[in-house]
Amino acid sequence: MDLYEHQARGLFEEHGILVPRAEVTDSPEGARESARELGGRVVVKAQVKTGGRGKAGGVRLAEDPFAAELTARQILGMDIKGHTVRKVMLAQAIELADAESEFYVSYVLDRAVGRFLAIASAEGGTEIEEAAAARPEAVTRVHIDPAEGVTSAKAGEIVEAAGLPPQAVDVLVRLWQVLVREDAVLVEVNPLVRTRQGQLVALDGKVTLDNNARFRQARWGAEEVEYDDTLEATAAAKGLNYVKLDGEVGIIGNGAGLVMSTLDVVAGCGARPANFLDIGGGASARIMADGLSVILSDPAVRSVFVNVFGGITACDAVADGIVRALDAVQLTRPLVVRLDGNNAARGRAILDEHAHPLVEQATTMDGAARRAAQLATAA
Ligand code: GDP
Ligand code: MN
Repeated sequence: MDLYEHQARGLFEEHGILVPRAEVTDSPEGARESARELGGRVVVKAQVKTGGRGKAGGVRLAEDPFAAELTARQILGMDIKGHTVRKVMLAQAIELADAESEFYVSYVLDRAVGRFLAIASAEGGTEIEEAAAARPEAVTRVHIDPAEGVTSAKAGEIVEAAGLPPQAVDVLVRLWQVLVREDAVLVEVNPLVRTRQGQLVALDGKVTLDNNARFRQARWGAEEVEYDDTLEATAAAKGLNYVKLDGEVGIIGNGAGLVMSTLDVVAGCGARPANFLDIGGGASARIMADGLSVILSDPAVRSVFVNVFGGITACDAVADGIVRALDAVQLTRPLVVRLDGNNAARGRAILDEHAHPLVEQATTMDGAARRAAQLATAA
């Protein structure tokens, strides 16, 4: 789960990293009030879970509280890469020591190596991607030994290699503590700046928490987790693994491997998956009903493909689940079901007995995918 900048800022502050004083509001009047409290000169910052806000016009300096109100009015409601701005953060404007005072530091999970990677550069700011692409040597990358973590010595190595100011050692050690204590898989500060007073301040932060550690990070309750796709939030609340895609065929399957290959087969038939939902080992009527209602509430879905290979879960239980789900959910688009594996014959018989005008069965995965694709792409 990604956090908003203001939430990341809060975590940095708790772990002793210097951040600008700031307040969050959802109204232009609130922005004026906040700017007044912060002492006038502020930066008005769109709170959206995407980068490049500055370039999109979502980060702007305001000289006084009235300018802050006006600027907030322009930024609130703005669309930044598909994200609507609902809140702005007002941050005390920071004066940089000079033009070379923006740095980049992050820790990110390197899944290929199974370790965290520290990334640091003396050329932080909005042009970091371009700088990294043009001159890879401008970016330092150091893997972190998980048993050792980031000690002052390790941080010193990184700071030296990247050409960061010496105070960055302390920032890197604290940032590592943010990562470990908050169960994050990514923490990024861009830019980390040197102020006129010579301090290092985290001007912008990104934190991605490890969803698998949610159970021990109780503070991120439901109201704090503002999902961008409400259907994904609904699914998550029901304990379903649902992912929204761009196409028109809704896909329900059991097990990640089968679901992934189902996406490929549907794509191979000339249609595009609209989403996918992994019902895992469970196929109770409730899971089926919840799954179907989530998939059907996506208006882009034109047909649904239920692809189940019965293993521990028997196909007759899945068929029962589908039949009872159809009592609970009004089926508004055609459903193609392919049952195979454990008790497939009994499962198919159950669906035949409860014939539904919008439900069809297919015996093979390819056949079912072709049919679902055909139904989805038909005029
Ligand atoms: P991003 O575009 O989403 O990464 O948003 P940032 O918060 O990083 O802001 C973009 C850029 O605006 C930063 O890289 C800075 O160059 C600049 N910026 C933001 N806040 C301040 C500030 O308080 N003072 C100064 N001098 N520059 C700022
Ligand atoms: Mn930034």
